[in-house]
Amino acid sequence: MEKSSIPLKGLDAYVRSVRREFEEKLAELVEIPTISMDPDRQPDIERGADLAVEYLKAIGAQAEKVQTSGNPVVFGQLIVDRRYPTVAIYNHLDVQPANEPEWVREPFTFFKHDDRYEGRGTTDDKGPALTALMAVRYAVDNGIPLNFKFFWEMEEEIGSPHFEQFMKKKRREVKTDSVLVSDTIWISRTKPAIPYGLRGLLGFTLTLETGKKDAHSGTTGGAARNPIGELCQLIAQCYDARTGRVKIPGFYRDVKRASAEEIQNYLASGFSVRRFMRAHEFKSLRFTDPARVLKSIMAEPTFEVHGIVGGYVGPGVKTVIPPRAEAKISTRLVPHQDPDKIFQLVRDFVRSKNPDVKVTHEATLRPYLGEFTGPYADAGRRAVTFAFGKEPAFTREGGSIGAIVTLEERLGVPIVFLGLSLPEHGYHAPNENYDWGQASGGMKMFVKYFSEIAQLNR
Ligand SMILES: [Zn+2]
Repeated sequence: MEKSSIPLKGLDAYVRSVRREFEEKLAELVEIPTISMDPDRQPDIERGADLAVEYLKAIGAQAEKVQTSGNPVVFGQLIVDRRYPTVAIYNHLDVQPANEPEWVREPFTFFKHDDRYEGRGTTDDKGPALTALMAVRYAVDNGIPLNFKFFWEMEEEIGSPHFEQFMKKKRREVKTDSVLVSDTIWISRTKPAIPYGLRGLLGFTLTLETGKKDAHSGTTGGAARNPIGELCQLIAQCYDARTGRVKIPGFYRDVKRASAEEIQNYLASGFSVRRFMRAHEFKSLRFTDPARVLKSIMAEPTFEVHGIVGGYVGPGVKTVIPPRAEAKISTRLVPHQDPDKIFQLVRDFVRSKNPDVKVTHEATLRPYLGEFTGPYADAGRRAVTFAFGKEPAFTREGGSIGAIVTLEERLGVPIVFLGLSLPEHGYHAPNENYDWGQASGGMKMFVKYFSEIAQLNR
């Protein structure tokens, strides 16, 4: 098919015509509390996956729940013609818990107010998944020469522990020419963003046990060791909490520094330090220069203390010396840091500073870096500009999507992120929402993207 004959003409009418259906399907999905973190929600995970299989079959795809030793992965295939190139679309249908007290309404009751859709999972990531689904139906019905596969995961919010198992199990069927991921956030409503990198994660705990029970500081203090104090000292040796700079030797060795061009791209994302502070309710930051802030949240590693457990936590002061303390720590990693290597560095460093402290590995996600130039990035740029009337900024995400590294390793094809979530959508936060503006624009963006990439690799 010639480029010019790709049917984008009826697209506006199509998008308007599917609004009711989109809202009904989103409501159905949102009202199944597919919380992957909560083992009691197992039946809901299965129910959600069954419904997703139905949705895929309804647009003519072959679909199944692929069992793993964890949650299933919903896998769909819509092979129109073996000669066409194939795109695999990744989304996830599991959600974060929703127990924050700030929820104004029931998080698992879908609520529609004009163009706004509320409920846990609306923006992360059920809304974008459905948006892509409706775009695929249009593309197939209108002869865009492309085959489609769907990877709808049910364990993204817990780090995708069994996604690789799924990829291995379906080794042959998952083959594709490229992957489209829709699970990311723009930096600002007024400026679309295409991320091409993700930070990784290494989580671990530090524990120190110096006794068996609480001791009295009057009778033992002075001679007794204090595990909380020793952990604090150790943490201060690991990093400078005022600047964030990690002091563990070798920690930065493999960091690929962001180029001047990349920093310029980040600055073009519509980011404002003031809005960033307001959105997260910060009173102050480590630094306020926008380029510095963006670099540190997108392209630099971190060291973070999430909690210290131990000792007395009631009102006033109780003069105990605790027997045990635990610090919960993670580092966000950037390309090309290797989590295993970093864990080794941390363990050796801790051993050298305080050999009684035990380091326990908790979680690993590898960082990812794709491309912001080339035919797929160009297709993404054109698709966003077509749908939203603005050129996207190419950025990196500070967070992690565990499945992406697996996709990269197992498929070795271009991965493009066309996310639709906005900062005000309450991603991982109370009162999560999505909106018709992003859904309708998203459908157009995906259709245009499909028509663009259908011209490639043939
Ligand atoms: Zn997500």
